[in-house]
Amino acid sequence: MDDVAVIGAGIAGLATALNLQERGRSVKLYDPLGVGLGCSWGSGGLINPDAHLPVAMPGMIRNVPRWLLDPLAPLAVRPADALASLPFLARWLLASRPAAVREGVDALRALHRNTLREYRMLLGDAYPDHVHERGGITLLIGEQPSPAERLAAELRRELGIVCEELDRREIEARVPGIASHARRALYFPGNAHTPDPAALCVALGDRFREQGGAFRSIKVDRIVAGDDFCTLWAGGEAHLADQVVVAAGARTPTLVKPLGLKIPLVAERGYHLQLVDPSLELSAPMIYREGGFALTPMRGGMRLGGTVEIADADAPPNYARAEALWGRAQRLFPGLTAADKRPWMGSRPALPDSVPAIGRLLRAPRVAIVAGHGHDGMIGGPASGRLVSELICGQATHIEHRPYRPDRFGWSTVLRQAW
Ligand SMILES: Cc1cc2nc3c(=O)[nH]c(=O)nc-3n(C[C@H](O)[C@H](O)[C@H](O)COP(=O)(O)OP(=O)(O)OC[C@H]3O[C@@H](n4cnc5c(N)ncnc54)[C@H](O)[C@@H]3O)c2cc1C
Repeated sequence: MDDVAVIGAGIAGLATALNLQERGRSVKLYDPLGVGLGCSWGSGGLINPDAHLPVAMPGMIRNVPRWLLDPLAPLAVRPADALASLPFLARWLLASRPAAVREGVDALRALHRNTLREYRMLLGDAYPDHVHERGGITLLIGEQPSPAERLAAELRRELGIVCEELDRREIEARVPGIASHARRALYFPGNAHTPDPAALCVALGDRFREQGGAFRSIKVDRIVAGDDFCTLWAGGEAHLADQVVVAAGARTPTLVKPLGLKIPLVAERGYHLQLVDPSLELSAPMIYREGGFALTPMRGGMRLGGTVEIADADAPPNYARAEALWGRAQRLFPGLTAADKRPWMGSRPALPDSVPAIGRLLRAPRVAIVAGHGHDGMIGGPASGRLVSELICGQATHIEHRPYRPDRFGWSTVLRQAW
C-alpha cells in the first residue's frame, strides 16, 4: 500500500509531492501525460508574488453581452457551452462585488506573497536556472483609471505592495519601440518569471524522483475512500493508498464528485502563441490588460499567453484565439516580426472566486484536494502544496487555511455574496 498517492503532476501536484516528502512521507504520483504536461506546460511563466487580484472585478457585468457575441474577445464563452456555463458565470458575477473581491484578495495575497521563498525550497540549487527575479510591467488601459483600477490601487496601498507608476517617457525608456497608445503603466520590482515552465516542472519532477518518489504514467479513473485506506482504480487495476491528494487540474471535479464534493470548478481555457526568433526583446514580462494577455521572454523566444474561453475541456481548440494575439501584439509593437508562431491551448482549473480549493473532503477525510488556481497556478502552486501537506500531516498550517475550504461553495456563500 502507498503512503500518499498524489493524482496529477502539474505544478500543484508536484509542489504537494515535494512538500510531503519534506515531511517524511512516501509518495506516489499518478499522471497519464507525464510531468508538467497539462496546463502548467503552456503557462505564461509569471511568478508574481505581488499578484493578488481575482479575475472577477467590479464592472465586469457590463462586458458580458459583448463577450457572448465575439468568439475572439479576450474573454469568450463557447456558444455550445453557454448554457452549461451559466451557474459558473452567475457565481463569477457575484464574486465581482467589492466585498467578495476583498475576501479573495486576502486569500490570494497570503498564498502568493512568499512564492519565491517556496520555489527556493522546492528547487534548491536549480532555483536561479528556473526563476528570474527581474520584475514586471503592467500596462494600464485608457487615459484615466477605471473603477476597478482605483479599487486595485487602494488594495495595493492597504497590502503594502511596492510599485512604481510609469508615464509615457518612462515606459518608452524601459520598452523601446512600444506603440504610442501605451501611456500609463505600473512597474513591480518584486515580480519574477520562469523562462521555461515545462523545464521548471521537469526539475521538480527530477527532484521528487531523486528523493525516492515513485511515478506512475496512468490515469486514475475512480477513488473509493474507505475508513482505513483508499482504493484508486486505474486501467482496471486497484492501487491502495493510506491518503490521497487530488491535484488533477481542470479534471478534478469528476474525481471528487463521487466522494460527495460538488465543486464549481470549470475549464477556463487559455491560449498562447510562442514566437520563435522574434524581433522584440524584453528583459522582463509585460502584462497587456487591454489585449488580455502577457508577453514573457522565454528560452524558446517570446510567449504571448492569456485570453479566457469558458468551454468544455474536451472541446476542440479554437486556435484563431491564439492567432488573434499576434494582431494585438503587433498593435502594441508596430513592425514586430517572428520566424515562426506556435499556438497552444490549455485548460486552467478555475473557481468563480479565483481562490483555489485546498483541504480534506468532509465526507472522505482520507482524501484532500488542491485545485482551482485559475490564472495563478505557477504563483500559488508552491504554497498550496505546502498547505495541503500540512493539513494531511496534521501540522499547524503556515497560513490560515479556512479561506481555501473546498466546501465553501454552498448556498450560504451565494446568498451572502448576493446580499
Ligand atoms: C495561456 C495560459 C497562461 C498562463 N499563465 C500563467 C502565468 O503566467 N502564471 C501563473 O501563475 N499561471 C498561469 N496560468 C495558469 C496556470 O498554468 C495554472 O493555474 C496551473 O498550471 C494549474 O496547475 P495544476 O497543477 O492545477 O493543473 P495542470 O498543470 O493542468 O496539472 C494537472 C495534471 O493532472 C493530470 N490529471 C488529470 N486527470 C487525471 C487523472 N484522472 N489521473 C491522473 N492524472 C490526471 C493531468 O494530466 C495534468 O498533468 C496560465 C494558464 C494558461 C492557460
